[in-house]
Amino acid sequence: MRSLNWQKELGRDGHRVKFSGRPVAMHCHHYNINLQKTLEDTLGEQGVLLLYRASEEAILEDFRSILGQYESIKSEKSKFEMAALMFQNSGMGIIRVQALGPDGGVFVSPSNHHVTGWLAKHGRRATPGCHFVRGWIAGILEAIYDRPLGYYAVEEQACKMVRDGECVFVVEGP
Ligand SMILES: [Zn+2]
Repeated sequence: MRSLNWQKELGRDGHRVKFSGRPVAMHCHHYNINLQKTLEDTLGEQGVLLLYRASEEAILEDFRSILGQYESIKSEKSKFEMAALMFQNSGMGIIRVQALGPDGGVFVSPSNHHVTGWLAKHGRRATPGCHFVRGWIAGILEAIYDRPLGYYAVEEQACKMVRDGECVFVVEGP
């Protein structure tokens, strides 16, 4: 199996950082967590959905393109593992598969950027808060199973932001 060619996929073009040919913006937790808190405080559920959908839409488009370039990666589990490697290499954290199929699955994150950032800036919160990660999982599964945007719904059933032991995501189809 051909693995992801990081030297080819992650590079620079002058001052721009590119991933698979697409320019990416990189932000630290101050930016990302302030963005999330502002969206939640000002727009409530609509702000949560905006963050979720933006993450889902961006990764669906990117990962669909990447899968098209790595057609030798056949199994759905291998595809998810490649996505998880990208997630980790982008500094977003660790994510593991517990169950995966065309109807959804279960995913566990023992550590991620948004949890570390939120706890550092605001401490424990009352409700699960990994909206970016939920959207990311939805987009990855929609790319793997060739489904349209919004096909999967991802619920976070446990979250380290509320001091659960790890973040647990349950995915269901329509
Ligand atoms: Zn979480």
